[in-house]
Amino acid sequence: MSEMSFAELGLDAAVLEAVNAVGYETPSPIQAKSIPALLAGHHLLGVAQTGTGKTAAFALPLLSRIDASTAEPQILVLAPTRELAIQVAEAFTTYASKFRNFHVLPIYGGQDFGPQIRGLRRGAQVIVGTPGRMLDHLRKGTLKLDSLKALVLDEADEMLRMGFIDDVEAILAKTPDTCQRALFSATMPPQIKKVAQTYLKDATEVRIESETRTVERISQFVLPVYAERKLDALTRILEVEPFDASIIFVRTKAETTMLAEKLSARGHAVAPLSGDLNQRQREQTVEDLKRGKKDIIIATDVAARGLDVPRITHVINYDVPYDTEAYIHRVGRTGRAGRTGKAILLVTPRERSWLRTLERATNSPMESYQLPSPTDLQKMRVQQFETQLLAFAEDGKLPKAIALLDEIAERNDMDMAMVAGAMACWMEMAQPGALPLEAPEALPEISAAPRRDRKGPPPGKKNFRKGPGKGFKKDGKPGHRKGGPKGKPAGKGGKPPSKRPAR
Ligand code: ADP
Ligand code: MG
Repeated sequence: MSEMSFAELGLDAAVLEAVNAVGYETPSPIQAKSIPALLAGHHLLGVAQTGTGKTAAFALPLLSRIDASTAEPQILVLAPTRELAIQVAEAFTTYASKFRNFHVLPIYGGQDFGPQIRGLRRGAQVIVGTPGRMLDHLRKGTLKLDSLKALVLDEADEMLRMGFIDDVEAILAKTPDTCQRALFSATMPPQIKKVAQTYLKDATEVRIESETRTVERISQFVLPVYAERKLDALTRILEVEPFDASIIFVRTKAETTMLAEKLSARGHAVAPLSGDLNQRQREQTVEDLKRGKKDIIIATDVAARGLDVPRITHVINYDVPYDTEAYIHRVGRTGRAGRTGKAILLVTPRERSWLRTLERATNSPMESYQLPSPTDLQKMRVQQFETQLLAFAEDGKLPKAIALLDEIAERNDMDMAMVAGAMACWMEMAQPGALPLEAPEALPEISAAPRRDRKGPPPGKKNFRKGPGKGFKKDGKPGHRKGGPKGKPAGKGGKPPSKRPAR
């Protein structure tokens, strides 16, 4: 990460305010390099892979240069797919949230022309779209580029791969000569180079290179996971990994507190660590981690810089880092003082290319992480429960407890198995985050791994509690536990409502 702050980059005040509201702590490397160049009006050629923060790298400076008093299209962004166009349009809307009378219009194929034409007539300062449909509008005359100030080609190599390069060039040819241009691409195939040479003469070039460094003593794992399953994956990892202390990296300050709340509700001793805390609070948090008052820290890259806590055994990259340097720094928070450490990286399908980049950069392979199956989890939970139970069987108070329970059983015509069962249910409820006795919910697909055979969740919900006693509920169904609906993050069901994060 760069040492620079967004405030130093010279962005428009309203844009800066929006960025602060989103919670970005510092500019990513490509942002730190691209923003000044684009603010200065230069063409820009940016080479960096997915997830490095390219959208803000062009959106923030270009929005800073806009003339908000007119509704004519001033920024045009070409993206390879409808999804990416929508994503970029949403990002622009966020970054322009402090502007008044401001409109961002996504335009893509597969949607009726009607709403798009009405949107264009109403006026939008930023148009984001796929090349084919954009060209249609230019030819129809429904989209005019006379006031265009900037054109961005986002994911240029993807557009080439999808066969849009001719459309892209046709659009480029129709933009005013005075128009500022930016081209972003993960790779630089010859055709893209040619486009750059023709249309982006004297462009400032920004490359986010991967550098090579060895990460010794740290075993690295990767878990492909759908974005909406990340929390499920994380809670399972934390349940099965025998960690002493763990640090979890996320991208935004807001996410450090959000995730900390969620894990805390699941019974973990966890604290956020971000630039939102003052120096003293940060030191206190690190101290708590060192002394074992906390076991998990949710951190941003900046806040965790230089963190040296020997008991950190695990680094979990919940969000992918911006560059290989950040990754190497992150995983270096474990394996301190000659110990070994484990690093686990969660990647969503669109971030999967990180895998090879990081392997190259660290010069060591990443193993694919195997999430425990529901059956494995169940076994572990039973074992843990048994261990804890046995520990109390030696307690000096045991005879008194037995006498009391005998009395209660007698009075209520229960047998001891029933009493014990009831107590187990009570304990489970009374300890938020305590491992449920119930077999884990047949979780929906967590892993987004395409290749290996995924073990499907077992059909239906099993309940291991049906054994423990004659007097136990006959249908074997848990009494108080509802169990989260399928598709909802695990852990939502069955927690005492008061312990849920208030949101
Ligand atoms: P790319 O286009 O390089 O694939 P995106 O622009 O889509 O990357 O950004 C990826 C993610 O990173 C988005 O969720 C975005 O909100 C987030 N992000 C971008 N810049 C920052 C920043 N400076 N700090 C924190 N998060 C950021
Ligand atoms: Mg992008």
